[in-house]
Amino acid sequence: MKLRLGLSILLMVAIATLIQACSRPPTPQESCNFVQNPEQQRVSWKSSLPVKLYLHSSVPAEAYPVIDKAISEYNLTVGGGREMFKIVARGASGDMNPGRDGYSMIYWFGSWDKSRPTEQARTTIYWSGSEIFEADIRINAANFRYYFGEDTHFSEVDLNSLMVHEIGHVLGLAHNVTSGSVMNITLDQGQVRRRLGAMDQTSLKCEY
Ligand SMILES: [Zn+2]
Repeated sequence: MKLRLGLSILLMVAIATLIQACSRPPTPQESCNFVQNPEQQRVSWKSSLPVKLYLHSSVPAEAYPVIDKAISEYNLTVGGGREMFKIVARGASGDMNPGRDGYSMIYWFGSWDKSRPTEQARTTIYWSGSEIFEADIRINAANFRYYFGEDTHFSEVDLNSLMVHEIGHVLGLAHNVTSGSVMNITLDQGQVRRRLGAMDQTSLKCEY
């Protein structure tokens, strides 16, 4: 069964329009496999690094080291000595209602949209102009069982691989179909894809 990884893109067009009304139109850019704004510019965090992540209290503690490992993949591979992500709180309180609240949060959902049962996770990014300022990750723990260990299990989704994919969205990456990329739209049960592929690294260099 092919399982889908969701990406929800919220356009902060109101802010962007205000700025552009009194400035030159921005130059379109190559996508480099990034999400692009309506002016075809890549959206990313630019120099606002590291991205500060919060783990909501719904995230089970056994997932913490797996999330740390996924973040390390970016910190060690992409940053060139620069820290890309920093987890500033674990077990953060607050309701299960991700939205634009100033906190980039990872949530673990025990119930999920009934119309999207094959969606393993959903990352929402918020930006202004071409700069991302917040991202929220929802994990679907209602329809999927996750594997937290080092090797794999055929009937469970590898959480490490899933997190590497979703964190790619946080940085602004879109889906692609290139073999070996962590940004493929599907992740099968038992499939392992924990390391950034060559294309992912090349793409990220366009912005980071
Ligand atoms: Zn995705």
